[in-house]
Amino acid sequence: MTQHAQLPELSPSTDSNLFAVAVEQLDIAANVIGLDDDMRRILSHCQRELTVNFPVEMDDGSVQVFTGYRVQHNASPGPTKGGIRYHESVDLSEIKALAMWMTWKCAVVGLPFGGAKGGVTVNPKQLSGNELQNLTRRFTTDISLLIGPHKDIPAPDVNTNSQIMAWVMDTYSMHVGYAAPAVVTGKPLVLGGSEGRTEATGRGCVFVIEAAARKLDLNLADSVTVVEGFGNAGSISAELMAELGSRVVAVSDSRGGIYNPAGLDLAAVEAHKARTGSVVEFAEADNISNAELLTLPCDVLIPAAMEHQITAENAPCIKARLIAEAANGPTTPEADAILYDRGVFVLPDILANAGGVTVSYFEWVQALQAFPWTLIEVNQRLHKIMDHSFDAVYGTAERYGIHMRTAALVRAIERVAELTRLRGIYP
Ligand code: GLU
Repeated sequence: MTQHAQLPELSPSTDSNLFAVAVEQLDIAANVIGLDDDMRRILSHCQRELTVNFPVEMDDGSVQVFTGYRVQHNASPGPTKGGIRYHESVDLSEIKALAMWMTWKCAVVGLPFGGAKGGVTVNPKQLSGNELQNLTRRFTTDISLLIGPHKDIPAPDVNTNSQIMAWVMDTYSMHVGYAAPAVVTGKPLVLGGSEGRTEATGRGCVFVIEAAARKLDLNLADSVTVVEGFGNAGSISAELMAELGSRVVAVSDSRGGIYNPAGLDLAAVEAHKARTGSVVEFAEADNISNAELLTLPCDVLIPAAMEHQITAENAPCIKARLIAEAANGPTTPEADAILYDRGVFVLPDILANAGGVTVSYFEWVQALQAFPWTLIEVNQRLHKIMDHSFDAVYGTAERYGIHMRTAALVRAIERVAELTRLRGIYP
């Protein structure tokens, strides 16, 4: 077993005063552009916050009550958009932060959506398929006050997938009395899903990694990649990096990480995970902790798990040249400053993982028009948007002499502030 620096094990998003972090980031960017106090007050609040406590009948006949949330941060740009996550750490502060980040994310890539997010405090791995369906349908019923094809459109997020989106679509459709595919994105293809949606977050992330590598003179074909998290975004990013010739030496999931400096056979890791439920104990690698994984020697580090992973504590030990945040909120503002001073180039979440919501937008457009696109069309349009957004954020970072997160926020806030001003306050 290889020796690594001893760092404390990080737990996924702790007591989560995550919304305070989101507001702090907003303030940093607002200071750069001298945003007026009135607009700051508007943008630092979430417009709607719904908490629901709902009963679910379990397989043993008992009834459990679960707590869930749907938060809309800002509906000025258009209908609100954002995923639904199922996780034990879900709380209102986390969902509010994630909703605010969705507003900025949609604005960075120029989508006509405001930001929203939903979640249920639950470990879905402890539920049967039947219980998962009951929970999803009842949660959808309770948040159907807010959602709708022209109001607020959910999508997958941590621990939710296309089957769960199909249940959301069906439950909402039963309420309105006709099939309403545009109420949710990330659906299965046969139900009006989009080609390329499943891979979109990882694909978009790798498109901006390629753009950043060109600026940094980093040859990806001769690079080393580490990926924290092996869910949808993490596993697809890892595969696409390997396709570009990068050596993916370490990956992890909620149970821990695996490391092989010679490179991992990702198809074999996938098969091992499908068989055992986790990447750990993979025969051709050493087990390492998530904390160790983050500080491994590498060129590209892709945090693709939960929030609050790169902190003031471990940022000084990070060896990557480039960090691409496939996860939402993995880096704290203190860590951002440390990484910037150390010359680590960070592709912030609201740019790096915007591919997911971008193809969600494509899916929504296709559903409203009942006119599907080909995979080539989807990927070409995604590539163009990611490249253009990278260039715009990079240009802003250069112009103001700020790091990429603040630059992305500056662009997003300017756009949302402008359209909010134009619309004015009604009544
Ligand atoms: N959950 C994804 C995100 O955080 C996708 C959201 C969407 O497609 O609406 O960006």
